[in-house]
Amino acid sequence: VQGLSGKRVAVLGLGRSGLSAARALDAGGAMPVCWDDNPEARDRAEAEGFDCLDLRKQGAFDDIARLIVSPGIPHLYPAPNPVVAAALSAGVPVDNDIGLFFQSFATQSWDNFDTAPRVIAVTGSNGKSTTCALIHHIMEAAHRPSQLAGNIGRGVLDIDPPHDGEVIVLELSSYQTDLARNLTPDVAVFTNLTPDHLDRHAGMGGYFAAKRRLFAEGGPDRAIIGVDEAEGQYLAGQLSEGASDDRVIRVSAETKLGGPGWCVYARKGYLSEFRKGRQVASIDLRDIAGLPGAHNHQNACAAYAAARSVGIAPKVIEAAFRTFGGLPHRSQTIAEADGVRYVNDSKATNVDSAAKALAAFSDIRWICGGLQKEGGLGALNAATASVKKAYVIGREAAQFAMQLEVDAQVCTSMAEAVAAAMDEAEAGDVVLLAPAAASFDQYDSFERRGEDFVAEVTKRL
Ligand code: ADP
Repeated sequence: VQGLSGKRVAVLGLGRSGLSAARALDAGGAMPVCWDDNPEARDRAEAEGFDCLDLRKQGAFDDIARLIVSPGIPHLYPAPNPVVAAALSAGVPVDNDIGLFFQSFATQSWDNFDTAPRVIAVTGSNGKSTTCALIHHIMEAAHRPSQLAGNIGRGVLDIDPPHDGEVIVLELSSYQTDLARNLTPDVAVFTNLTPDHLDRHAGMGGYFAAKRRLFAEGGPDRAIIGVDEAEGQYLAGQLSEGASDDRVIRVSAETKLGGPGWCVYARKGYLSEFRKGRQVASIDLRDIAGLPGAHNHQNACAAYAAARSVGIAPKVIEAAFRTFGGLPHRSQTIAEADGVRYVNDSKATNVDSAAKALAAFSDIRWICGGLQKEGGLGALNAATASVKKAYVIGREAAQFAMQLEVDAQVCTSMAEAVAAAMDEAEAGDVVLLAPAAASFDQYDSFERRGEDFVAEVTKRL
């Protein structure tokens, strides 16, 4: 990384991204100095030959050029991290792996600007992974080389060296955008905004501010903004001010958009692209199996706009939609038997994403429950019209069931919930896992929970 060669750079947090930051710094001629409160993590770094230094000690930042913080470490909320605070008071700039990636990317010069690799970065509360996977899939269908990185795919510092014509699709969470010093994607996508992770960002204002950093001064040439919430509308308005008509592409899965600018929206199952008041393309999304429900139509619109931004034709995008298999644990149809469809949406860890999953289907036998997030389940009850019955799991299953305004059965395990739902399911029903809660009371991760659901369904078919 330019500017850091020969300098000591501190790395805080030695998980996957911390170690790859240390390796990248070392390869670029800097001297990484590593720290993790966990001794086993330090052992792993030392086994790779990296020096560890207790960054909590007085004077640790005396000769350090920058501090790289892992995204897993809360640096300001709920309490300031002492190492980060020490760096800041010693005047040492704080950054993360994403900032390093953009810094090194920006300082490379490409032979031909027109064919230089393009970075498409995606942020937002929900739909980031699906949107990224879909963009990557469209690029593959268009025979355009593409790499997936960030929260999905490889760590940003572990990707292959980018080359001409390539697209790098980056999924960035608010934990990654809040600290990065350089955020200069060519195309930036903001999917939507709902309350999540508020504990780490001191409320909605901080959360929105973290995501908005991707669109700051000197940011993307093209901004693709979901405008179905007030925050998106605000951001789109701000970015359009004094800019050319094609700087912003507004995206909606609810409203017909118009005006002189560029927009992509989905209504009644049809995607439409308009530019300067003229319709450019229309795609029927209704029978596309990999993209069920209005929430996936929003993802389709965002991915469509991103692909258009790097010159892919509507027909090519439409063909790619048809071959998109969806991502595991996100509205994924895992089996169909005797007219019953089985859908794994274990990733629906909050009320909003579960509500979207419920809206995508009808005649639902709904498996839900787990560790509840702040805010309660109130908003879910507006979305349960299509639920025939809920089968509630998790440590707080009884409390969870009490808050639901549908027929609900408290179950002691995933096995019991799946068995009950399958016994009672009739042709035309959908057995849907969309927990509206985190998994940590019962599983290590939402992936394990989804795998358990798939295993329980499969063994009974
Ligand atoms: P992220 O990477 O932002 O967490 P995913 O694509 O992994 O997003 O989807 C997370 C969850 O949110 C899934 O349960 C999925 O069904 C739901 N979801 C996907 N896209 C959207 C969207 N555009 N709006 C709301 N919920 C969505």
